[in-house]
Amino acid sequence: MPLQRENRNRYYRINWLGHAEAVLSSAGPRSNFIMMPTRNGSIRLFRFSGIDVFLHWSWFVVAVYEFNTRRHNYSFALWNALEYLALFGIVLMHEFGHSLACRSVGGKADQIVLWPLGGVAYVNPPPRPGATLWSIAAGPLVNVILLPILTILCFVGKHFGWPDNLPDTYTFLRTIWAINLVLLIFNMIPVYPLDGGQILRSLLWFWLGRAKSLLVASSLGFVGVLGFFLWALSRQDVWLIIISVFIFLNCWRGFQHARALSRLAALPRRAGFICPSCQAAPPIGEFWLCGQCQKPFDTFLNRAVCPNCSAQYEQTSCPDCRASHPISQWETVPPNA
Ligand SMILES: [Zn+2]
Ligand SMILES: [Zn+2]
Ligand SMILES: [Zn+2]
Repeated sequence: MPLQRENRNRYYRINWLGHAEAVLSSAGPRSNFIMMPTRNGSIRLFRFSGIDVFLHWSWFVVAVYEFNTRRHNYSFALWNALEYLALFGIVLMHEFGHSLACRSVGGKADQIVLWPLGGVAYVNPPPRPGATLWSIAAGPLVNVILLPILTILCFVGKHFGWPDNLPDTYTFLRTIWAINLVLLIFNMIPVYPLDGGQILRSLLWFWLGRAKSLLVASSLGFVGVLGFFLWALSRQDVWLIIISVFIFLNCWRGFQHARALSRLAALPRRAGFICPSCQAAPPIGEFWLCGQCQKPFDTFLNRAVCPNCSAQYEQTSCPDCRASHPISQWETVPPNA
């Protein structure tokens, strides 16, 4: 599942107050990622092409649980461990699909966190429907590519009599094939924020615009997740109930974000400045938070200096795309010209 990450509040950088509702309503600026695992409580596994891969502690708890409940499937327990590692590998490839695609369109993606509900690729694609669509679709595309490869491997195994000669190997192969297919189908359910729901949102973006497309996709998501929750309840499957609650909470977050985007889109814009990354003019208002005195101010009115405590900022972040640039790069007319 790809996720759009807000800039961290840093002393040298003025951040737009995370999401617009932090100022426009009473929601706190840190209420954003409570529902997602973070690198806090995670161990860093490795770094590949500039992307750090973290493993959340809860992954080990579920690994032990899975290991104990699925023991009967193989004649050696080692195969269970291999199976869980293979699941881990497929999820990781899926998340790398999101991250690398996001980078290929000029977005920011430098972190993947793996946890029991799958993986989270922290991606921040440029705020354009095509770029967002590609960043989302590239994840499931990895599973689509894996499908014929695993299918051929299963056929080859059957041809060489593995079900009799190497039953564990064959069971393993078939399970991996099924895991990949289940992951693909699950991710393509058009319920926001699953990949299918985000693909739907990106497609709607072409016609409805950034805010309204998210509003529609997350509203549809509520209907979908209610159905999913009732189905999980009828099956009395605790794991599915947890997943549906998790989807609901993130759908709610998407809905709130859509409302914030609508408010952001309606704000008057300041002339004389445009974002070097997305070309949007900044909104007029006290939407930037000072890292020193924690008071909001309008950084474009005060040229990146806090009017309350005089802290000066090297970087100013864009409310529309969240990229940061020195204030001088925002100016459309150079000073003294
Ligand atoms: Zn995904
Ligand atoms: Zn921008
Ligand atoms: Zn200040």
